[in-house]
Amino acid sequence: MSEETIFSKIINGEIPSDIVYEDEHCVAIKDIAPKAPVHLLVIPRQPIPRLADAGPADRALLGHLMFAAAEIARQAGVDEAFRLIVNNGAGAGQTVFHLHLHILAGKDFSESQMGF
Ligand code: AMP
Repeated sequence: MSEETIFSKIINGEIPSDIVYEDEHCVAIKDIAPKAPVHLLVIPRQPIPRLADAGPADRALLGHLMFAAAEIARQAGVDEAFRLIVNNGAGAGQTVFHLHLHILAGKDFSESQMGF
């Protein structure tokens, strides 16, 4: 079992958040410190700490998160152009150790480097 993070508390309703999407396997919330006009986080209900901690049993869930991200982008009206980011490990900028996908959109990323 992994330690409880702020995202588990959000999913359990212990901490308020701006939820924009929910299904059986994941929730999406607005990032509290947005780095783009649209900045959403897709969070699996199952608390896998990092992408690198996912195992073979998590394959379907990982696919689901990608699929859900596209649907969430559609619902947010940004499916023509969005960036999907996973920070894996502190050295990559991960601060919350409960796997999540960042959806960033609403600004022009076409000239920018991978940093956000
Ligand atoms: P990462 O750095 O990849 O671990 O991303 C964690 C993200 O969670 C950051 O973009 C934070 O702004 C965001 N975040 C932290 N706490 C909250 C919160 N309570 N509600 C919404 N987003 C949060």
